[in-house]
Amino acid sequence: MIIPPTDCPVCQRIDCVQRVPAIHRSSFSTHTRMQMRTTYDTNNSPHTTTVPVTETHQTPLGSLLNPPRPGRVPLDTGEQLVIVLGFILMFVVFYSFGKSNFFNDWNSNLVLAFFAMTLTLPLWTWILARFVLFRKVNRERRERQQQEKEIWQYRYQQWEQFCYCSRCDAVFVSGTSEAVSPQQIEQLYT
Ligand SMILES: [Zn+2]
Repeated sequence: MIIPPTDCPVCQRIDCVQRVPAIHRSSFSTHTRMQMRTTYDTNNSPHTTTVPVTETHQTPLGSLLNPPRPGRVPLDTGEQLVIVLGFILMFVVFYSFGKSNFFNDWNSNLVLAFFAMTLTLPLWTWILARFVLFRKVNRERRERQQQEKEIWQYRYQQWEQFCYCSRCDAVFVSGTSEAVSPQQIEQLYT
């Protein structure tokens, strides 16, 4: 449940208080500007054209008040290596058969089947890594990811309660007496 904004703990007034999510939402602006672009034709003579470029900007205050991001749990290094190994294996097989006269001697269906099988090598090493070699690691990873998600949801709910007073340049939680500068917003999370 979102508590309505309360008085700023610094100036004890509400007239300059806004909710942080609202400030964040309105902190983006897009505008289109014309950019010169030079191209060369076959005779190497330059042609200048103007093309519209759309840019999105965020106000400095808005970027300080960004919502928390979910934490990522990276793939185990060993697992990444096994997947890379699958790709290397694929290229090695293609390379060594490309050097032989395999592709000339055999009928085309067999060559196609060989191609298809070689292309699936990274898939097989990925399956091997995920479901055999790193099965336990992956289960733990999923649990950690779930924990990270819960932490993020908890932090996001807190962020939704944050208010900002433009008179004092202070961020605070509705109904509490602690206030910090937008740069120190991390301190408001519990
Ligand atoms: Zn204030």
